[in-house]
Amino acid sequence: MKVYISIDAEGVAGISDWDQIRTKGDDFALGRRLMLGELNAAIDGVLAVDSQAAIVVNDSHGTMRNFPPDEIHGNAQLIAGPHKPLYMMEGLDASFDAILFIGYHGSIGAHPSLLSHTYNPRAVWEVRMQGRPVGESALNGLVAAHYNVPIVLVTGDAATATEAHELIPEVETVQVKTSHSRFAATNLHPAVAREQIRIGAQRALSNMGGRDLVPRYPHPARFEVTFLTADMAEACLALRNVERVPQQTRTVAAASDDLLDLFRTFVGMVMITRALVE
Ligand SMILES: [Zn+2]
Repeated sequence: MKVYISIDAEGVAGISDWDQIRTKGDDFALGRRLMLGELNAAIDGVLAVDSQAAIVVNDSHGTMRNFPPDEIHGNAQLIAGPHKPLYMMEGLDASFDAILFIGYHGSIGAHPSLLSHTYNPRAVWEVRMQGRPVGESALNGLVAAHYNVPIVLVTGDAATATEAHELIPEVETVQVKTSHSRFAATNLHPAVAREQIRIGAQRALSNMGGRDLVPRYPHPARFEVTFLTADMAEACLALRNVERVPQQTRTVAAASDDLLDLFRTFVGMVMITRALVE
């Protein structure tokens, strides 16, 4: 079995502030430790199903160098470092049997959802598909759908689970926290969260047969992005296939039958607008 894990930070139990998950944050050491604990719990669940599983971990958060490679279980390969063309989905291809999203979080508009954002909270006000706000799971799902690899498990807070089920009704979710606000949540004890993730990963991989776990998108698939300011939308018009939504100063749209191409357009928007806010 070949398993792909994309791990983010904000949906990890015990994490409640940017200071815990930014390299210069006061509590970064704690945040990294909590992330590693949940990553290894997920890997332990994979290994319970197949002790010889080939595991690739994509560090999808921030500077993307959050893990001590030698402390990751399962002899997993680690994709570390920034500027990856497929960003949170870098390294995925059709050779994988399953995808796990660990430590994921709600979209920027989700309420309530701890540290909610959609890729860049300083640029992206909202992303919509088929008229509905979507978060990172639905965007990253474009890559899963392109390669026809099932997403079997998503972990995070309650809003994360809701968004995951909107994308894939049958997906297994593990809820490790309940958000009260964007900066407050009731967290499971990390030991309990890890145990639930381990069991969840094992159950998800054991039960994936016969389930429809590859996200589905209309043809052509289309998204709209509303940015915080007009210049961000204007900069994105430089990208192929990106058009301004009529009468909308801050909103652009892109559509394609090629889901990978569409995802890369979104990554291009993230990269271009980052240059404007930093
Ligand atoms: Zn994120």
